[in-house]
Amino acid sequence: MERITSPESANLGKLCESLAANAQHAGDQWPEAQLAMCGDAGVYEWFLPTEFGGQAWSEADIVKGYLRLSASCLTTTFVITQRMGACKRIAASSNRTLAETLLPDLMSGKTFATVGISHLTTSRRHLAKPVLQASEVEGGFLLDGFSPWVTGATAADMLVLGASLDDGREVLLAADAKSNGVQIEPPPRLVALTGSQTGQVRLNQVFVPDERVIDGPIANVMQGSRGAMSGGLQTSTLAVGVASAALDFLRTEAEKRTDLQEPAQQFAIEYQKLEFDLLQAASGIESCSSQDLRTRANSLVLRLSQAALTAAKGAGFVEGHPAGRWCREALFFLVWSCPQPVLNANLCQLASMAT
Ligand SMILES: Cc1cc2nc3c(=O)[nH]c(=O)nc-3n(C[C@H](O)[C@H](O)[C@H](O)COP(=O)(O)OP(=O)(O)OC[C@H]3O[C@@H](n4cnc5c(N)ncnc54)[C@H](O)[C@@H]3O)c2cc1C
Repeated sequence: MERITSPESANLGKLCESLAANAQHAGDQWPEAQLAMCGDAGVYEWFLPTEFGGQAWSEADIVKGYLRLSASCLTTTFVITQRMGACKRIAASSNRTLAETLLPDLMSGKTFATVGISHLTTSRRHLAKPVLQASEVEGGFLLDGFSPWVTGATAADMLVLGASLDDGREVLLAADAKSNGVQIEPPPRLVALTGSQTGQVRLNQVFVPDERVIDGPIANVMQGSRGAMSGGLQTSTLAVGVASAALDFLRTEAEKRTDLQEPAQQFAIEYQKLEFDLLQAASGIESCSSQDLRTRANSLVLRLSQAALTAAKGAGFVEGHPAGRWCREALFFLVWSCPQPVLNANLCQLASMAT
């Protein structure tokens, strides 16, 4: 496939058709062929600066691209976010040698990197002791503990990991997934996105040399990780992408069923407003905060996927129908990289309390 160089490219439409045709399968099995297809189409280039062979798309174009991809296949798109999360952190590092050494193979798709960082942001934050500890030793760091959530770890060559030191500082490192002491646990079956092969990685006295330090050790290393937003707009974008797939289904059904027309219209208005605000935010025009966007995106994807299932009736409840899959996928946004204020807002909405 020819490389996709803008979100308006006709090739993006062709890629999305192929992804959508295999979305059910990708939800269950590691989407190797889909990821290779995205690599061939230049998708990984969108996110990185030109000096590393990237196309340096604007934030708004990335949002448009992600909306199309996630409407077609959430599992493949989610894996791409984790892969690019690792690549962007390496590219943004002040350690230029590391970026120059690792990025060419990561960009060409020869190697695969993923992230295990949520224990510094949204996972295990209530525990007194950090789950992944780093200690400074001659020439590098020793890692001990575990990273609770690592997407695609079974396929990874490189793990971008966050770890905490005894003095409270944190460090971000690129660890070789084949290092001595790294144990990739078999990924569990999930409510959705099982194909993302997300599971725990255990680390027992794993040595990572200084040359593999991406950032730190400093306080709050995730805030200092330049050019590599954690959460940010991408989680909302993927939720809105899944919502758009459900909306398309509802509108198509409404063409032949008058009872569906009014709710489909209402959802379309809400969807358009949210997509507009998302693109405004991506263009740097803040009409609402990223947390507000995330809360609205979560709410919309949950309601729209269930509206699609309602319209599909029993047929939508049979395995293989996309409406049932969208409902399960929508639940993912309640737990993925969800900051506490968004979590609270979601709970208030579920309890029908004013936020
Ligand atoms: C499919 C999937 C893929 C993911 N992929 C990645 C990835 O590639 N990389 C990455 O870094 N992260 C990833 N994540 C992590 C994600 O972004 C969130 O960090 C994670 O979902 C948070 O859930 P948790 O169970 O770890 O939260 P925790 O806050 O650790 O909660 C775990 C349990 O602790 C208890 N608990 C929670 N809070 C409290 C409290 N205040 N007091 C007492 N008990 C409490 C509850 O019983 C809860 O079930 C992924 C998550 C999922 C589900």
